[in-house]
Amino acid sequence: MTPAVNENSTLPSLSGGLYAFFFDVDGTLATIQSQPEWVSIPAPVRQHLQQLSHLSHGALALVSGRPIAQLDALVNPMEAPAAGVHGAERRDAAGQIHKQMLPTDVAQTLQTELQQTLDQWPGTLLEVKGMAFALHYRNAPAYEKSIMQLAEDAVMRFPVLALQPGKCVVELKPQGIDKGAAVREFMQEAPFIGRIPVFVGDDLTDEKGFLAVNAMQGISVKVGEGSSHARYRLSDVEAVWHWLEQLLLQLEHDNRR
Ligand SMILES: [Mg+2]
Repeated sequence: MTPAVNENSTLPSLSGGLYAFFFDVDGTLATIQSQPEWVSIPAPVRQHLQQLSHLSHGALALVSGRPIAQLDALVNPMEAPAAGVHGAERRDAAGQIHKQMLPTDVAQTLQTELQQTLDQWPGTLLEVKGMAFALHYRNAPAYEKSIMQLAEDAVMRFPVLALQPGKCVVELKPQGIDKGAAVREFMQEAPFIGRIPVFVGDDLTDEKGFLAVNAMQGISVKVGEGSSHARYRLSDVEAVWHWLEQLLLQLEHDNRR
C-alpha cells in the first residue's frame, strides 16, 4: 500500500461546513482490549458522540466489524445509524435494517469446519457473526500463519466469501461487502446526502472507507501508525476523544453565532 499520509497534516477546521461523520469503534473510539467483550467507550465520549450526532442532524454513523447489537450496547443509550460486520448488516437513519447473508449451506459447513480446526489451536477463537466469521489469534500469535492459510483455503473453496485481515484477526465475509460500500450507501440517504463525509478509523478494514471518502472529497482520518490512504492522522484513541471534544466546542460556537 502506498503511504498517502503527510505525517504533519493537521486536521482541517470543520467550521462552517455540513459534515457527515463515520466512526469505526475498536481502536478508534475505544481502546483495544485482549478480549473484544472487555471493550467499552467512556461515558463522556458516548455523550460527545450523541451531541455531535444532534448537531449534525443525525448524520453520524458507526461503521464496524462488530454486529449492530454490540455497537448499540457500546454507545448506549444512543442508537445511531450503523454498519455492522463491515457493512453486511446496516441500519439506516430511518431504522431500517439491510442485511447481506451468506448462503445457509456455506455458513453451516464453514462454522462446523472452522470450529473443529480452531478447537485444536489453543488460544484462538472463532466468532460467529451470522453473516461472517472472525478468526481471532490475539492470544495465540503463533497461529497467525495457520489461521491465514485456513481462511485463504475457505475463500478458494467458497467464492461467495471474501477475506478481511485485521489486527490479530482474519474475517470471512460475503463478497462485495466493505466499509467503503457502507459509507457510499449512507451517503445516498438522508440525513447524510449532500454532506461532506468524515471517516475515522484505525485498521486495514477502514482503508476502503478512507478511499470512498477521498473519492467524495471528504476527510479521511487514520488513527495510529502505519501506511494508509487516509489524508489525516490522529495518534491514538485518546487523540480521537480530544479531537471530538474540540470539534463539539467549535460546532457549538458556530451554532451560537
Ligand atoms: Mg478498528
